[in-house]
Amino acid sequence: MALNEQKEEIHVLMVAFASQGHINPLLRLGNRLVSKGLHVSLAITEIFQHRQRKSSSTTHTTDSIAGIQLLFFSDGFSIEYDRGSNLDHYMETLGKAGPISLSNLIKDNFHGGKKKLSCIINNPFVPWVADVAAEHRIPSAMLWIQPCALYAIYYRFYNNLNPFPTQTNPEMSVELPGLPLLQTQDLPSFVLPSNPFGSMPKLFTELFKNSMKKIKWVLCNSFYELEKEAIDSMAELCRIHPVGPLVPPSLLGEDQNPDIGVDMWKPDEACMEWLNHQTPSSVIYISFGSIIALSDKQFESIAAALKNSSRPFLWVVKASVLTTSDSAGALPSGFLEDTKDQGIIVPWCPQTKVLAHPTIACFLTHCGWNSMLEAVASGVPMIAYPQWTDQPTNAKLIADVLKVGVRLRPESDGVVTAEEVEKCIKEVMDGPESEEFKRNAAEFKRTARLATAGGGSSDRNIQVLVDEIISGGS
Ligand code: UDP
Repeated sequence: MALNEQKEEIHVLMVAFASQGHINPLLRLGNRLVSKGLHVSLAITEIFQHRQRKSSSTTHTTDSIAGIQLLFFSDGFSIEYDRGSNLDHYMETLGKAGPISLSNLIKDNFHGGKKKLSCIINNPFVPWVADVAAEHRIPSAMLWIQPCALYAIYYRFYNNLNPFPTQTNPEMSVELPGLPLLQTQDLPSFVLPSNPFGSMPKLFTELFKNSMKKIKWVLCNSFYELEKEAIDSMAELCRIHPVGPLVPPSLLGEDQNPDIGVDMWKPDEACMEWLNHQTPSSVIYISFGSIIALSDKQFESIAAALKNSSRPFLWVVKASVLTTSDSAGALPSGFLEDTKDQGIIVPWCPQTKVLAHPTIACFLTHCGWNSMLEAVASGVPMIAYPQWTDQPTNAKLIADVLKVGVRLRPESDGVVTAEEVEKCIKEVMDGPESEEFKRNAAEFKRTARLATAGGGSSDRNIQVLVDEIISGGS
């Protein structure tokens, strides 16, 4: 049988729940698998389909995105249920209902027909997918959607391979192969003894203690040139294969390939016109991603620093903050009026287009991994303002490993002052190290493109995966 005919039969199923930061990297990986001749489906919880129908921001049809078939499974809740109201309850119910509905989906779509399901790819937030794959005797892979460094930390933590802070020694520093010395403020919040036991640490315990045994390929949304030491340090323990950065193709110089990501909210495209009128490398871009809600004090210090800097800014402040006095913090009164000629505030922007715009000078970020990779691929220096989960470690990478920016230092009470924000803006934009940050950022932009181009490090890893899937997981 000719190779092409053989590939026709090979089908991969990817599984995610309905979050932009989880769906988009999987879709972009799926796109690369399709380009190498595989058939790909993405199974998502049904709420995505419902949101997509309501959203006018997407032009995709609901049954496929760029050749990737969409399939839907129940998370155990009605469409009306507020999934953000109790994350622990949501994850627990999903962990019970998800395996049953996913198993039925596999039977309905892949049993007895012409499609040969040869691999199931999950992400770390749905570890039970590996059990469903094992039940159906299908080899499974996982796409780790944080840096390889985080995978190395969690792997060692959950397998008790190295000492970590405890209740009796909460301030101990952690020394791990391939990583800089990590202080408490550099560690992911889930491994700290102060972290309340919740659904996320429970999920990771399940993943590293049980599911990992069933996962054949561990893939990562990163690239070798970005995290050499962390990746090499895992070679003896559990190989991790970077296949990224899984960002829009336009950021990687592949303008001929359209992006296939989805948007959680409708982006304000008008801010691009505003950017067009700014001076090159002058604008501070500020965003805290889709989940973080800032406190009043945090809003105050960022707002005061921006105003004092007199530099143009584009700040993403979510709609709930702009329209209501909600339980999270609010912009200081008078700020919008005072800065109307200096900057703009939008509820959601086309971030990847913004980062690629020549007027952007730096990115004040919460250090979510998608945002960080997008900035890396765009060659934009960063000011790190991490809040929780992997973000503190990502901030350490920005400031001390990749040297593409600085990290805001909080006072002893945990508050970051306006003076500190202003000082860091100056450091990144025209301090003594600013040229080094720009040079390093430009170099990672270059290596990100090389990694994903044909024959690059990430492309080769994807090809090995494809070859192994085709040969039956051997
Ligand atoms: N994002 C966007 N518009 C915005 C702010 C963020 O499109 O105004 C996108 C951003 O490009 C990134 C994602 O939202 O892909 C945020 O993911 P990340 O992992 O950085 O943070 P999270 O939202 O998971 O905390």
